[in-house]
Amino acid sequence: MDVEQNGMHVHNGGHVHEVIYHDHRLPQRRRTGITKCFCQTLYLVRYFPFVMISLLFLWGVYVYLFYIIYQGYQSVLLKIILMLFFVPLYTLSGWSYIQTVFTTNRSIPDEFSIPESINLNLITEDEINHSLEYVVMNRNLPIYTRNFNGHIRYCRKCLVIKPDRCHHCSTCGKCIRKMDHHCHWVSNCVAFDNYKYFLQFLTYTVLLAVYTSATSLKLFIKFWKEEEYPGRFQIFFLVVFCSVFSVSILFLLSYHIYLVLKNMSTLEAYQPPRFKNVEQDQYRFNLGAYHNFRAIFGDNKWLWFVPISSSFGDGLQFDLRLNTSQFDKGNNLIHDANNYGHNHNSNGVNDGSSIMTDSNAQYYNQQDV
Ligand SMILES: [Zn+2]
Ligand SMILES: [Zn+2]
Repeated sequence: MDVEQNGMHVHNGGHVHEVIYHDHRLPQRRRTGITKCFCQTLYLVRYFPFVMISLLFLWGVYVYLFYIIYQGYQSVLLKIILMLFFVPLYTLSGWSYIQTVFTTNRSIPDEFSIPESINLNLITEDEINHSLEYVVMNRNLPIYTRNFNGHIRYCRKCLVIKPDRCHHCSTCGKCIRKMDHHCHWVSNCVAFDNYKYFLQFLTYTVLLAVYTSATSLKLFIKFWKEEEYPGRFQIFFLVVFCSVFSVSILFLLSYHIYLVLKNMSTLEAYQPPRFKNVEQDQYRFNLGAYHNFRAIFGDNKWLWFVPISSSFGDGLQFDLRLNTSQFDKGNNLIHDANNYGHNHNSNGVNDGSSIMTDSNAQYYNQQDV
């Protein structure tokens, strides 16, 4: 039995790690006037892209509603039909953007914190790993990934054991659950808590930009014929802007659709995760395209379309596939698909038992050796 007692790790082999209690967490420094000012400046810089994109959105809706729908089309029926598509697309695009920007990526809970008794500055990496292995086992933490040298991944800045797929974001200054990448255009980390919103934002924005360009084409062509009409330059720039925007976002969206179907984050695509006693495995989290999609969008089909939280789990533990032979070449599950997702209740909330059986076996076996 391994326990942590009064600053000591006691191992069942009789070997006792004596650890001197030492609080290596730096005391919180009081913010002086200069640092406060600096933080406020950073805050403004952080949200500058958000302000710019919001202003562009508002300008776009003004040009489209006033110059294109109100003045460009004569038929009332056509105006109504155009509005029926434009308003929902615009609302959903803006809503998912706001959700992506302002969703707070939750911190790593205390159960993953490194005990104060482990002084990271006084012991070697091997000793740290040894101690962290005990912590993982004693707390029964669902940690399966390892770093490049097979050690448990931890963060010296946040003083936490990193959950699987978690990474430290230097811009946000904290460890982020299932981090995908830090996106300055959304002034936030794209990660577990807002990934669904990010995908929706890309999708609705492409649709909105294509729709706006297509329905403005009549007036755009008029521009080249040098006919005079109200707002001709604004309409010209709106169509050019929407065309460029839709093409560039379409590339990004296509890549993320690929990542969703493979259950990979951008970071994992560049650097595949490693598992204990296993080489790098880029597709270990891949449960098949449909299950991967459901992990992000949930069970409720209505919620697939609206930017409301419906992802499975808490971003701290993830289902693992059993082995590669479970998939055919088309990335479809060959074995009983119902085994997957059994650990999620009807609300799409993880009940805490989301690690596959073989993983548990592997996990406990690893601890026994
Ligand atoms: Zn961190
Ligand atoms: Zn970040």
